Amino acid sequence: MTEKLYYADAYLWNFTANVLSCRQKGRYYDIILDRTAFFPEGGGQPGDRGYIGKAKVVDTVLRGGEIVHVCLDAAQGECECSLDGEFRFSNMQQHSGEHIFSGILHSLTGFDNVGFHMGEKEVTVDFSGPVSAGTLREAEIKTNEIIWKNAPITAIYPDESEVSSYDYRSKKEIEGQLRLIKIEGADLCACCGTHVAFTGETGMVKVITSENYKGGVRITLRIGKYALEDYTEKNNSVLEISASLCAKYGEVAEAVEKLKEKQNDLRIELNEAVKETVALRAAEFTPETPYVFDSKGSADFARLLADAGADRVKTAFAFSGSDENGYKYAAASRSEDVRETGRILNSALNGRGGGKPEMIMGSLSAKAEEIKTFIKDLSK
Ligand SMILES: [Zn+2]
Repeated sequence: MTEKLYYADAYLWNFTANVLSCRQKGRYYDIILDRTAFFPEGGGQPGDRGYIGKAKVVDTVLRGGEIVHVCLDAAQGECECSLDGEFRFSNMQQHSGEHIFSGILHSLTGFDNVGFHMGEKEVTVDFSGPVSAGTLREAEIKTNEIIWKNAPITAIYPDESEVSSYDYRSKKEIEGQLRLIKIEGADLCACCGTHVAFTGETGMVKVITSENYKGGVRITLRIGKYALEDYTEKNNSVLEISASLCAKYGEVAEAVEKLKEKQNDLRIELNEAVKETVALRAAEFTPETPYVFDSKGSADFARLLADAGADRVKTAFAFSGSDENGYKYAAASRSEDVRETGRILNSALNGRGGGKPEMIMGSLSAKAEEIKTFIKDLSK
């Protein structure tokens, strides 16, 4: 049985140990030590990484009651071992921050924490019932107040006769020796993970989102350095928006709202202007010239124009674009199936497109004069 050094000292990054066994498994080597500071994945906390001698440890897991160091190389005998301390400390920050928050939310709502996942930068916690925005905010404030107090975080190992005297949170029934993590003024919870010694080390706990999940809620948190990182990213975004809208950074939401209103007004004005232009230009459709050319290059404008032209001629053709860039076209008729006309047009003038019997749309790469001549011949 491997001695668990991480329980005696959660800040032990370097230690010496003997390799008890080293077994090759595919491209990995499973190494078991007589003592280890590598925490094996469990209770939502990822397994540690680092080195056993020169062997790189990519993960640490609990398998059949054994702490297995999953390595890229083999190791033998006595080894100097070192953890990725930055990774571990960050995991301790995340884990302790989650305990403080969950303990406080539990005391405010009575709901249980039924899920916990530590992602690369975010922590998610699932609670068994709905939590209002107000309660969430209160929990966030109280959590950070506990952090500012720099309260001690300690582990308690009650013997069987004492267990019933403790009122603690627990996700599942734990076999063997019970280990409780006590956070002064915030929480008492059964846990196998590693924690910081004082709440102040978690830095900050920030609620990012809350969404309905399996009859309860899933809350996403940013803790410690990832909370700062999140603040920096969001602050940069707000400053960019603020500069681009010439608004104070505390007023960007109002500025965006105003911009949306303005955009909406402009859209209404534009629609009116387009309608007027279409009505004016529709007068250009005649039986001799059942086509109108426009330089905008907008397929939508061609559609509106052809539709208006169909009131004046048997088949109306509208083209939008230029000789250099080609034309978007639309053809409309109230009495004929324009799809056949479209097929003839496409094959004669390098075009593509189609549509319904009363309206087709597409594009052509041909010159205006060629198109005009072609349509005049077609109408004969
Ligand atoms: Zn825990």
